[in-house]
Amino acid sequence: MERYDIAIVGNGPAGVSAAITSKIRNKKIVLFGSNQLSDKVGKAHEILNYTGLPRISGEELNKNLKKHLADLDIEITEKKINMVYSMGDHFNLQAGEEFIEATSVILAGGVVMEKALEGENEFLGKGVSYCATCDAQFYKGKTVGVLGYNEESVEEALYLAEIVDKVLYFPMKNETKELIAKASLPDNLSVVEEEIADLKNLAIKSENQEGFMRKVSCIETKNNKYEMEGVFVLRDAVAPDKLVPGIELDGNHVKVNLSMETNIPGLFACGDIAGKPYQYIKAAGQGNVAALSAVSYLNTGV
Ligand SMILES: Cc1cc2nc3c(=O)[nH]c(=O)nc-3n(C[C@H](O)[C@H](O)[C@H](O)COP(=O)(O)OP(=O)(O)OC[C@H]3O[C@@H](n4cnc5c(N)ncnc54)[C@H](O)[C@@H]3O)c2cc1C
Repeated sequence: MERYDIAIVGNGPAGVSAAITSKIRNKKIVLFGSNQLSDKVGKAHEILNYTGLPRISGEELNKNLKKHLADLDIEITEKKINMVYSMGDHFNLQAGEEFIEATSVILAGGVVMEKALEGENEFLGKGVSYCATCDAQFYKGKTVGVLGYNEESVEEALYLAEIVDKVLYFPMKNETKELIAKASLPDNLSVVEEEIADLKNLAIKSENQEGFMRKVSCIETKNNKYEMEGVFVLRDAVAPDKLVPGIELDGNHVKVNLSMETNIPGLFACGDIAGKPYQYIKAAGQGNVAALSAVSYLNTGV
């Protein structure tokens, strides 16, 4: 299997900056994320504090970031990374059913703003999943729920409907409510018609089994109960401890030192995922430091 020197997970200002520096230092890199780059950049009306680019709009900044990537022949690999496994001397990154190998990894996926739902952590791997492509097959003939936080969740729900018996789509944001309303839905996919505020407090529960055997059996909202055996929680970013088993956290963020090193050798983190303040210029600066640290790790082992 082809092995990259540096895999960069996420392509906001932190990931793009890390990719630029890694490429300039002649490393074989792969940059994962969306072709649209970060929504948090693209949707910003006016940015006042990006050094050297006064009053730039988010759309214009994203255009410049794309131009910079193209100028260095850096391609965006449009894949969502679901898991990063440390194998000792390299890493395996899982994107759906595919695995990618890299000697070092830079995490730049931004921060998960939403707090975990009741039952989400308890039932992870016992009915709760973050990846439809990886886990849909386990639910053939069953009913699943899709908690839709991002655009892709609509496509993922349509994909699930091809495989499972029944899909209940819970729109967790106004944007996804509007998107699913416009989509043409198969008979086995229905949308839960509840207030988004009520959905945000839903609980993932197990009502049938005890102890270690407990698996998801339903979602409960303030006024309703929905029976199901699987719940797909589809957000833009995956919480870092769900993405990388064994990673050390500091609150919601990855714990890093000033070289952007994590507790796992060869694994670096930068931008919002590595802590506050949440700022474009800080994300880009940390991306540069993470890349230089990864280069040093590749060249010298430290
Ligand atoms: C409304 C708003 C206004 C803001 N205004 C300002 C401002 O004026 N000035 C300022 O400095 N900052 C501002 N910020 C903060 C700024 O947006 C963030 O600090 C910055 O975008 C962080 O960059 P990042 O690269 O760390 O992460 P992000 O910009 O969040 O980018 C992460 C990218 O990685 C992708 N990704 C995540 N997980 C994966 C995965 N597993 N696989 C593949 N791709 C993945 C995501 O889809 C996303 O595109 C604002 C934020 C918001 C929400």
